[in-house]
Amino acid sequence: MTQNFDIVIIGGGILGTSISYFLSFLNESKKIAVIEQAHGVAFHTSGRNTGKVHAPYLYNPEKKKLFAKSAFHGYEMWEKYANKKELPFKKDGVIEVASDERGIKVLEKYLKWGKQNGLNENEIKLMSDDELGKIEPEIKCKAALYVYRDASADYFAFTNSLMRDSQKNGTKFLLNARVTNIKKENDTWTITLNGENKINTKYLINAAGGEAIDIAHEIGIATKFTDVHFRGEYWKAPSEYNNLTKSSVYSVPEFPEYPFLDPHWIIRVDGSCEIGPNAVPVFSPHGYSKSENIKEFIPKMLEMLGSGARKTIFDKQFQEIAISEIHSSMSKSVMIDRVKKFLPKIDADKFTQKGTAGIRSSVIDENGKFVPDVILIDDVMSLHILNYNSPGATGALPFSAYIVNHLNKTGLFRSEEQDTQCGPWKFSEIIEKLDL
Ligand SMILES: Cc1cc2nc3c(=O)[nH]c(=O)nc-3n(C[C@H](O)[C@H](O)[C@H](O)COP(=O)(O)OP(=O)(O)OC[C@H]3O[C@@H](n4cnc5c(N)ncnc54)[C@H](O)[C@@H]3O)c2cc1C
Repeated sequence: MTQNFDIVIIGGGILGTSISYFLSFLNESKKIAVIEQAHGVAFHTSGRNTGKVHAPYLYNPEKKKLFAKSAFHGYEMWEKYANKKELPFKKDGVIEVASDERGIKVLEKYLKWGKQNGLNENEIKLMSDDELGKIEPEIKCKAALYVYRDASADYFAFTNSLMRDSQKNGTKFLLNARVTNIKKENDTWTITLNGENKINTKYLINAAGGEAIDIAHEIGIATKFTDVHFRGEYWKAPSEYNNLTKSSVYSVPEFPEYPFLDPHWIIRVDGSCEIGPNAVPVFSPHGYSKSENIKEFIPKMLEMLGSGARKTIFDKQFQEIAISEIHSSMSKSVMIDRVKKFLPKIDADKFTQKGTAGIRSSVIDENGKFVPDVILIDDVMSLHILNYNSPGATGALPFSAYIVNHLNKTGLFRSEEQDTQCGPWKFSEIIEKLDL
């Protein structure tokens, strides 16, 4: 029998699950479902990232406003949620290092952005190499930005806990259910799962991460956009390096307009250390293996050649960086030596185990440019969230509250009680603080 819902969310990542969480408190009378193709939530990017609760100093307040605001408020929200649920949340800070004059200029810009995005004097500080040396003697650099308001967390655990809360309020999580077809007839969406079962819904939210753009295309919207997938790989550090630094260390990215990051020195929430991620171009949002990439190579290339991504893939600088990222995937020492520049003690030969790779899908516009901020598309009886990239896990709670408030404003699901308590937060207070 076909099941009927009021709201269906495609995607059981941290975003879709967080949206379901707020909807489930605010719309108790509505029937809500989350559809996830994997056997559990946070199986893809949300459970395969660096685990940082990012302070918003890397984000231009004009170009990445939504991400920056969400990241700023995400920190306090995750801290509160972690305390309530007894989940790990470690306030361990992050250090951004510069090795030359150009890098120092970038740090000065980050300091300005960080303050514009809400960080205060005690939360972010520019330091000379001598000042940093007194706190972190193993790090070698010319200058550093010490960001105290940054933390480590386990987003897989957070997403699973939010799912349980949402389920308690009545949300159905349909797992092992891949959306294979979507059709709208009259005022109802009919969604086919795994090519056979059908469900109906009045309203559709597309939070499908690396496949959000494919779903939007399937219903004929966002056609001027396409995406490119990048696999971020990690190497686990041997335990003898666990106390090498007190905080995670990032270096100023060489090409900030591209989604290529210089690998970081990462301290995980359990105290173990890793190096990563690089950003290797792949052909599928699930391109973890060679076989998946071979399978998707031709369709993805055809899609990219027929879109704005054509300009990107023929761009010389993009090609050069992409080749260097592929090189870093094939050679362990190429990747580890990038970190060795500011952490000379590490020895690539001692790294023997790979970490869990995650894939980011960056949206490209019709001019071949990477889109910096999240893209929200309101269509008839549907909302599509595209390009939800880093620091998407950090900002997932405030951003989802923003989305739910946006839907409430359109009058579709007007909540009788804007002052509803959603777990540890009052909904109206989150919205007031976000001020978007
Ligand atoms: C290497 C890496 C490191 C990162 N590090 C950080 C970090 O330290 N801090 C931070 O804040 N952010 C980080 N990010 C970004 C962050 O992880 C993402 O922004 C966030 O996880 C995106 O969540 P999501 O729910 O949109 O996507 P996803 O987690 O990808 O969820 C989307 C879900 O939709 C499902 N889906 C897709 N299509 C269908 C379909 N047709 N049918 C059914 N289900 C479908 C997928 O199976 C998937 O589970 C990192 C990202 C990467 C790649």
